[in-house]
Amino acid sequence: MSRALLGAFAERGITFTPERLLRRVDSARRVAILDDGREVPYDLLLGVPAIRAPRVLEGCGLTADGFVPVDPKTLETRFPGVYAVGDCARQGTPKAGVFAEGAARAVAASLIARLRGGTSDAVHRGTGSCYIEFGAGRIGRVDIDFFSNPAGPVGIYHEPSVALREGKEAFGSSRRARWFGL
Ligand SMILES: Cc1cc2nc3c(=O)[nH]c(=O)nc-3n(C[C@H](O)[C@H](O)[C@H](O)COP(=O)(O)OP(=O)(O)OC[C@H]3O[C@@H](n4cnc5c(N)ncnc54)[C@H](O)[C@@H]3O)c2cc1C
Repeated sequence: MSRALLGAFAERGITFTPERLLRRVDSARRVAILDDGREVPYDLLLGVPAIRAPRVLEGCGLTADGFVPVDPKTLETRFPGVYAVGDCARQGTPKAGVFAEGAARAVAASLIARLRGGTSDAVHRGTGSCYIEFGAGRIGRVDIDFFSNPAGPVGIYHEPSVALREGKEAFGSSRRARWFGL
C-alpha cells in the first residue's frame, strides 16, 4: 500500500517528506518551516492539526500520554462501565472513522446487552477498508485487519480502478442514510 502511494506521488512529482514536523508557517513569505530548519515554499497550504483527546477527558483522569487507554477489543477504560472510542482513544487501530465506527458497534452491543440484563460477546474486530482517490475517476482500496494476525496488521491492496468507485459511493451513501437520514 505504502509503495503504491509513494509510486503515485512520484508519478505526480509530489515530494514525500516523512519523519518531520511542521514547526512554523511564515505566511508573509509563504513558506512552511520544518523542524530541521528546511523551508518549503507553498501556494496553498493544507494542514491537519495534531490529534489529541479533548481537555475535558484529561481533566477526568481518563487519559495517559494524551489519549484514553482502552481494552482494544471491548473499548472499556480503566473505569468499569466507561468506554472510549474513536480519535480520543488508544484503541489499537489508526485514527480513522472506519475504525471508530467498528469500535462503536462493539460498545453499542455491549451497552444494549447490559441494559437488557445480559452480556455481549461482540468485540471490536479492528478491520476496515480505506478508499483512496487517484484521479480520473479511479479509486484504490485497502482492506486492513489489525487484530487477527499476532505478527501484526495484514492488508489487501486493490489497485485503483473505475470499478471500485461504485463501492466507495455505496460506502458513503449508506453512512449518510443511517446517520443523517439522507
Ligand atoms: C483531513 C482528514 C481526512 C480524513 N479522511 C478519512 C477517511 O478517508 N476515512 C476515515 O475512515 N477517516 C478519515 N479521517 C479520520 C476521521 O475523520 C476520524 O478518525 C473520525 O472523525 C474520528 O471520529 P470521532 O467521533 O472519534 O472524533 P470526531 O469526528 O473528531 O468527533 C469528536 C466530536 O466531539 C466534539 N467535542 C470535542 N470536545 C468536546 C467537548 N468538550 N464537548 C462537546 N463536544 C466536544 C468535537 O467538536 C467533534 O464534533 C480523516 C481525518 C482528517 C483530518
